[in-house]
Amino acid sequence: MKYISTRGTAPVLDFEDTLLAGLATDGGLYVPESWPSLSRETLASFKNKSYAEVAYEVLQPFIGGTPDNNRFRDILEEAYQAFEVPEVAPLVPLGGQHYLLELFHGPTLAFKDVAMQLLARLMDEALSRRGRRATIIGATSGDTGGAAIEAFRGRENIDIFILYPDGRVSDVQRKQMTTPTDANVHTLAIDGTFDDCQALVKAMFNDAAFRQETGLAGVNSINWARVMAQTVYYFTAAAQLGGPEKEIAFSVPTGNFGDIFAGYVAKQMGLPIAQLMIATNINDILARVLQTGIYEIGDVVASTSPSMDIQVSSNFERLLFEATGRNAEEVCRLMGELAETRKFSLSPEVLDVIRAGFAAERVDEVETAKIIKTMFEADKMLLDPHTAVGYGAAMRSDLPATTPIVTLATAHPAKFPASVEKACHRPAVDIISTPQRVQDMMHQEEHFVSLANSLSDIQDFIRHKQTP
Ligand SMILES: *Cc1c(COP(=O)(O)O)cnc(C)c1O
Repeated sequence: MKYISTRGTAPVLDFEDTLLAGLATDGGLYVPESWPSLSRETLASFKNKSYAEVAYEVLQPFIGGTPDNNRFRDILEEAYQAFEVPEVAPLVPLGGQHYLLELFHGPTLAFKDVAMQLLARLMDEALSRRGRRATIIGATSGDTGGAAIEAFRGRENIDIFILYPDGRVSDVQRKQMTTPTDANVHTLAIDGTFDDCQALVKAMFNDAAFRQETGLAGVNSINWARVMAQTVYYFTAAAQLGGPEKEIAFSVPTGNFGDIFAGYVAKQMGLPIAQLMIATNINDILARVLQTGIYEIGDVVASTSPSMDIQVSSNFERLLFEATGRNAEEVCRLMGELAETRKFSLSPEVLDVIRAGFAAERVDEVETAKIIKTMFEADKMLLDPHTAVGYGAAMRSDLPATTPIVTLATAHPAKFPASVEKACHRPAVDIISTPQRVQDMMHQEEHFVSLANSLSDIQDFIRHKQTP
């Protein structure tokens, strides 16, 4: 499989180069040159297959033979063994046509583990074959950092440096980043905000000499391999609910549009999906664009679902590329306008294409808390705030009452105990069953380095610590 940029002028790459590149050199995002398609028999066979087996059939066409098929199978087996339950992503009925797809059984209790566990192994393998090393540098507001550290710790050919805003992540999130003891893991507590951390990382990527010297690689959600890995659970969920004979809908708590774009990819590959519901919190740029056709960046507002507190939804560019009929010139024009004026308008034709596959709903803070409380009181079912936003949007769907709708449960409630406690008016310890390994982690020693919000200090630190 070859990969092309949404902005049309970056070099065409194979899978491994796409994996290692992250962002395209023209500022665009890589997408496959064409969508592979799976037959109805193949889709139906998924009902009786393990998660890793389904992953192999779904992902093999994107990989194109490097790593070779046997090796790829082994990597998949290993990646999903990191999950607490054999199904990897169990489906739980909520009554009526509503289901929850639990994606939080990985090492850091959020869905980002599903893709990161695979990405880390694929990167290490590619580097080892090339006799190269890479340095991963990332900024996190909480979930991505822990998932990346957990996936990359101890990998032979990679050093990982994660910048987080000191004092601005939850205790569980911080412990997940600071308790690993592997020599290749470096957790940096930055005296600044998440935006500062992100700006620092961006500056390091824009420093060509530093980039070259350190073999810099990115793992944020614009990396194609992350999106690709997330397509798998749409297939496993649909197969359990009667797909492909039956159309299934999905409601996806959305920030950077990566997870829901994976659903779009599954649909392009032949999975009958009735609707993809974009569920946003009060940072509702995506709900607004579907309603008005105007994509306009506002100010980020802090919410109880912080992993969705995003205004610029990077992966939306991939959908724009698709909805414009893969018109890279038009994507460049729109992204240029966005950079200059902080907004752009979609043509009625493009908006119609998007509305045909997607719906969008905004779920505010009051409603999110109410959903958590109601679900707990009615069913003893605890949702984390991100999942509650997804479920709130699912309940507003206008689909026929016979269409099953699956809400993606993106985080375990134990990751956001304060919000859950506040919503339910009960002490967190009484209601949340925190997995034992997380309880143990809370007592372990923390390792991190405190650094000022200074690009040169941080670059010096990384140069010094990097494995030669
Ligand atoms: C990252 C994240 C999201 C948003 O996913 P996107 O791919 O950015 O849309 C939702 N919920 C949780 C818990 C997350 O960590």
